[in-house]
Amino acid sequence: MSDGIHIRGSQLFRERTQEALSLLSATKTFLSVKLFLSAIREGRMSYLHVSWGKTTFLVGYPTWQAPVIWYASGIVHEAGHGKLYREKRRRLFKLHFFNSGPHWAGTEAERFCCRLQLAALSELGAPEYMKRHVEALMENPKYHLASPCW
Ligand SMILES: [Zn+2]
Repeated sequence: MSDGIHIRGSQLFRERTQEALSLLSATKTFLSVKLFLSAIREGRMSYLHVSWGKTTFLVGYPTWQAPVIWYASGIVHEAGHGKLYREKRRRLFKLHFFNSGPHWAGTEAERFCCRLQLAALSELGAPEYMKRHVEALMENPKYHLASPCW
């Protein structure tokens, strides 16, 4: 458990995640979405898993082995999806239908989360190439949570 977020995985993974979270603890961007992320777990691929209203960021090796600033910005990105998920769910709950897919994923959601990620990268003083990468994704959000191999 770290600051309300449950962390699960190997010791290396947990240490890396703690490092990313402590970097983020000083940022306003993360504060605005932190509540919407229940857990961070080591996984085979990087994506947000939602089950019974709990949002878990599953993190693949390339993401958590990337520079810690990049990993941290990925946590912000996924917490952004968590926020979209919770907001949409609240709005749709009374209608007795909820399709978890298109409301919190898709091009618009991707742009929203990339904007958050970019704000976090700026707050953390990330190098230009990382910011440019996210800007490029915002222009053309083809795939979810890019984990570049740098
Ligand atoms: Zn995304």
